[in-house]
Amino acid sequence: MQSTPERPVYPPKAAIALLLVDDDVVDRETFRRLIDESGIGAQVEEASSGSEAIARLTEGHFDCVVVDYRLGDTTGTDLARRIKAESDVPIAMIMVTGCGNERVVVEAMREGVYDYLLKDQLTARNVAEAIEESLRRAEFETGLVHARRRLQRLSMFDGLTNLPNRNLFLDRLEQTLQAAKRSDLGFAVMIMDVNLFKEINDTRGHDAGDKLLTEIGHRLSQLARAADTFARIGGDEFAALLVGCDSALSANVVAEKIRSTLNEPMIIDNELVRVTVSVGVVIFPHHGMDSVTILAHADQAMYRAKRSGRPCEIYSAGEAEARSFQIATHLNEAVERGELFLQYQPKLDLGTGAIAGVEALVRWRNPHLGFVAPNDFIPVAERSWLIKSMTYAILDMALDQAVVWRNEGWHVPIAVNLSARMFDDSELVARSRQALTTRGLEPELLTLEVTETALMTSPVGAQKALRSLRDTGIGISIDDFGAGYTSLKYLRDFEISEIKIDRLFISSLEPSGRDVAIVRSIAALSRGFDVKLVAEGIEDQGQCELLHELGCDFGQGFAIGRPMSVERLGAWRAGRATRRADPASGTRPVRAARIVPPAKSGKG
Ligand code: C2E
Ligand code: MG
Ligand code: MG
Repeated sequence: MQSTPERPVYPPKAAIALLLVDDDVVDRETFRRLIDESGIGAQVEEASSGSEAIARLTEGHFDCVVVDYRLGDTTGTDLARRIKAESDVPIAMIMVTGCGNERVVVEAMREGVYDYLLKDQLTARNVAEAIEESLRRAEFETGLVHARRRLQRLSMFDGLTNLPNRNLFLDRLEQTLQAAKRSDLGFAVMIMDVNLFKEINDTRGHDAGDKLLTEIGHRLSQLARAADTFARIGGDEFAALLVGCDSALSANVVAEKIRSTLNEPMIIDNELVRVTVSVGVVIFPHHGMDSVTILAHADQAMYRAKRSGRPCEIYSAGEAEARSFQIATHLNEAVERGELFLQYQPKLDLGTGAIAGVEALVRWRNPHLGFVAPNDFIPVAERSWLIKSMTYAILDMALDQAVVWRNEGWHVPIAVNLSARMFDDSELVARSRQALTTRGLEPELLTLEVTETALMTSPVGAQKALRSLRDTGIGISIDDFGAGYTSLKYLRDFEISEIKIDRLFISSLEPSGRDVAIVRSIAALSRGFDVKLVAEGIEDQGQCELLHELGCDFGQGFAIGRPMSVERLGAWRAGRATRRADPASGTRPVRAARIVPPAKSGKG
């Protein structure tokens, strides 16, 4: 074996397995000789046609394939295309052409072959360089493929239990639904909620909570048959998709199996724990024809099981359920037919009386259902993919309005509510950024309001997404602070720019009440973290002054202004401006807040 003096010998690891594909025996000989001379240490096998090459590649592993452009039965680029299509990782490929034909080079590049050699300029050195270069490229591309697969897995599986996550579950449900409609096959969907999980989490710690969920995941996956999907779809919520399980009888049998398997004692941190679950069952096609309805009904059945104390309930339509069923039925139209619209509720600086921002609140009016409150349809949307298109439609509407206001000279920060489910969406950060940049809006003008429950149910995804959003300059607000699983951990772990005290503590706020101490403590906390503090649900003018004294700088509520249409908000602003300019109304900022008359209707 010879090595050229100018270049180092190829690293002495395992020999490179190289497949040389050329229909000309003399050319193959020449190439083999040059490879030997190059000292690159390749183990060369030969193929004289495209089909022979494919056969060789199917039988054995090759690090690099050198392909002549002109082959008897095919062209080099066609062969490259087939090899790429059939191999599951990138493979190093070099094209050898008889002449310096640009068309061939472009064609080869289109097939992802970037290294090529001219037959009349072959030397040991450029052969070695081309092989090295293509191996390096393939190694790099393989790294990318593995990284992409890892990401894909992360976005489809739950990191704790290794079960499919909500995304994958919805995807499988959608596929099963389509197949079932074609074949008249039935299936069951079950939603299982772990009873008293919060208590276990609170008393024994999150670590024990995690171990418990892992064990439940393990037991469920043992139960699953090949065609079944068991998934973790939320904090302590699991779901099952059971193909062929199409009667109440068979569903009850499976539910009983689940109940008894999970009820077997578990040892968590040397302590015996017994778990019970509440199971809600829906059977296709009897209880719903689309995924939104199916999941909404499974959820309702599960809650009925929780209330009744029975381990399992099969869906049956009640009165409230009939409304929810109708919402699920018409929800598609909300986004598709543009039935959603926004109202804006002002946030006021309680110190200066200036408008500090507006919160966009979604509204839905449907020809069949009339006006539907967000608290009724957002949870239904959250159980399906719809929350995604809905959120982006809302974001677009709000930012379009921000542009209109900016063009009128009003640079007002806008807050948009973000559902917990959106942290499962890998596009959230990019889409939010893009929505701002395409409109030329500064990121500081947008705040996303997230509830504590959202952070609780999706802590890992949430943390990553929130960090990226904050890095962009977008504000993050904790909505309804104090009403959920309040934990100071969020303030430490997540980069929060604003806290909104839940209206629970504001509605009954009076100077001598206990809520005063709570507000004062949250104010101290927010100052410590250098976070803006907003009080929600101010219904009484006197509360503005009291809140400001307690250290809360911003406020929002019916006493300041209800959620309003754009037109109504314009009139409201104009009214305020006139009164603020009127010296008789006094110059004290808080008074400025006080003189605002509450608007009469919330429907704008
Ligand atoms: P939220 O984000 O906490 O919004 C504040 C809610 O409190 C709004 O109800 C608002 O009308 C109401 N509110 C404001 N001031 C007062 C007051 O002084 N007294 C009382 N009693 N209520 C007041 P709304 O518009 O019905 O929204 C309810 C919830 O629905 C929102 O709570 C939010 O969680 C959700 N939501 C609203 N719009 C959207 C949206 O665009 N996307 C998402 N994901 N959720 C939204
Ligand atoms: Mg909000
Ligand atoms: Mg709120």
